[in-house]
Amino acid sequence: MLVSKCPVCGNDSFQLLHACKDHVVSHETFSVVTCTKCGLGITQPQPEINVIGKYYQSSEYISHTGKQQGLQGILYKTVRKYTLNRKRGLIQSFFKTGNILDYGCGTGEFLATMKQSGWRTTGIEPSQQARTKAENLLQQRIHADFNTLPDELYNTITLWHVLEHVHNISETLSKLRSLLHPEGYMFIAIPNHQSLDAEIYQSYWAGYDVPRHLWHFTRENMKPLLHNHQLNLVTTLPMKFDAVYVSLLSEQYRNTSFLKRWLLALHFGLKSNRKAKNTGDYSSLIFVAQPA
Ligand SMILES: [Zn+2]
Repeated sequence: MLVSKCPVCGNDSFQLLHACKDHVVSHETFSVVTCTKCGLGITQPQPEINVIGKYYQSSEYISHTGKQQGLQGILYKTVRKYTLNRKRGLIQSFFKTGNILDYGCGTGEFLATMKQSGWRTTGIEPSQQARTKAENLLQQRIHADFNTLPDELYNTITLWHVLEHVHNISETLSKLRSLLHPEGYMFIAIPNHQSLDAEIYQSYWAGYDVPRHLWHFTRENMKPLLHNHQLNLVTTLPMKFDAVYVSLLSEQYRNTSFLKRWLLALHFGLKSNRKAKNTGDYSSLIFVAQPA
């Protein structure tokens, strides 16, 4: 499906940013174009909802299966544990407890972390494989979509690297906004293609992850997107590990040899974080929003 209108600003003119390869599953090439008005990146063409499932069929797609092997797998798990605790700390700096909806909860590790801290947890996950794992981990029902949710409002709604995978971003944000308590907060984490690591790796940047990532956000277009849905941006926070991890994957896509891959990923990842200290353009960003 070709996107003809920018879902953030309604503009219909785009320019080619990169031709990116799907390095993980299909090895097909997709264009990433940017909206000439708001800079939103758009994968073109976008696989339709009923066929995109095949682009997730890979043991390497770790956010869904959780079993990458080797040193990189160990690093991923160590970093994941740390980031899970950091995410919990961030949420708890807003509310000590409450009810949380994690949209695109994957295999449920984040919700499990929150549940351990006494939160009431609700998850939505479209992938049946991931959903089953989350249900086993959490010992609770995980919803496939909005249709089966109980009638209640949440004081915390989270989307951890999920919005870029969602076909109907406007519909989804509207629905989530209607589920958010008037004094609640929404946390949206996305890869940021304005980061230095994106600039360094160009079409090899792992944050593009085509065609699973349908949209490529920046600070410039997140604010109007939130505004379209009566949400005000409260603050923007970095996910500092992502710069190194995304650089490591990008080096892998560039076929860099094993040792060199690690050295360069550390070098460029840390360089990206250093630059972002001044610009704010970290490799991944968390947008914290509140009902307007
Ligand atoms: Zn636009």
